[in-house]
Amino acid sequence: MKITFNGGAREVGGSCTVVETEDARVALDYGIKVDEGLSYNMPGNLDAVIVSHAHLDHSGNLLTIADKKVVVIGSRATRDITSELLQDLIKIQKMKGNAVPYNFQDVSKLSELWLTRQSLALPGVEVSQYPAGHVLGANMVHLKTRDNTLLYTGDFCVHDTEILDGVDVDALPREPDVLIMESTYGGTSRPKREELVKSLFSKIRETMKRGGNILIPAFAFHRIQEMTRRIDLAMGAKLLPRYNAYYISGLAQRITQYYHDYKSLLSKQVNKQATPFKFQRVRRVRRTEQIKEPAIVICTSGFGHAGASRALLSKWAGNEDDTVIINTGYLPPNSPLIMAKEGKIVDNGKSINVKADIEQIELSGHADQEELIDFVKTIKPKRTFLIHGNLDQAQALSEKISKYTDVEIPNKNESFEI
Ligand SMILES: [Zn+2]
Repeated sequence: MKITFNGGAREVGGSCTVVETEDARVALDYGIKVDEGLSYNMPGNLDAVIVSHAHLDHSGNLLTIADKKVVVIGSRATRDITSELLQDLIKIQKMKGNAVPYNFQDVSKLSELWLTRQSLALPGVEVSQYPAGHVLGANMVHLKTRDNTLLYTGDFCVHDTEILDGVDVDALPREPDVLIMESTYGGTSRPKREELVKSLFSKIRETMKRGGNILIPAFAFHRIQEMTRRIDLAMGAKLLPRYNAYYISGLAQRITQYYHDYKSLLSKQVNKQATPFKFQRVRRVRRTEQIKEPAIVICTSGFGHAGASRALLSKWAGNEDDTVIINTGYLPPNSPLIMAKEGKIVDNGKSINVKADIEQIELSGHADQEELIDFVKTIKPKRTFLIHGNLDQAQALSEKISKYTDVEIPNKNESFEI
């Protein structure tokens, strides 16, 4: 077996690892770097691409194989949400004036290439997938070839979150020859989720007390559904006072439909409710002009680049009563939210001094260092490759797990014979 790390090596973004045997050539994920768009230098001659989940850094480059005879493997939820995100990607690229040689028909063509069974066989390779707890439809991938076994984690979360159970580690095959594992938080310990939610609510309450606005930029996939439900339920349970509350995102609205369709993939508690994403207290509006201030608003884009989050950031950043809550860890360089954290944003060439309270409360769907170490101790891989993490994170984790497994932090385009 030969493994080549084509992307997501020593970085987060553009995930793609190619596994080659005498029988088949298979890519694990086929992602883009979200701030760079489509790449045309991706590995070709593939028999199959297995997509761990719909985030574009794992799926975005699928567009470039829409016209090829490649089998795409992944869950039905991943297939449908990837299609939504790819349509949005085409729209955004066109809006930016970038030439995109693909259209919505290519997206439909692509979705016909998918095989959505959890287990299936390619020539000489048995493929099994296991829920990864990261976002709706996310899977880990296990490959069994003639000579080797390999477990690819994709992005994963060990602990339960409000709408999704963590990965069921007991169900996973043990002692693979190769483990390819994400290391986003390989060097980081994070507070427990309950603690993070508590600080989120206390920040919101504080702002509401002084009559300020609260802006929560969030991704259309998973983060908006999770955050909107969290705020809606907290207001119902009087953990938060009633306040004007809105969410804005056409894309999130379309994606939320799949949260109803694939409800059985969500946690038991959510699954037993008839309409878990029909909100009682947080209202959907289409435009920022429909907002009655003061308000709490959850909206796209997640990094504040465009849309309602961009407009409201410009409107509210200069007011000391208002609060912006960033709920992601990673922020692309020069993104408006990073600039807001640093104290100055630019709107239409005009510079605004940030007086609003800018808070970062990371409610992530990834395992942290301790959970990653426990995972390795339980799975007992012979050899482990750390990907999907910046070098400092991967190195910190590598030191901690090297007594349990042989560890490599591959370079981009580096190959290994197993
Ligand atoms: Zn992800």
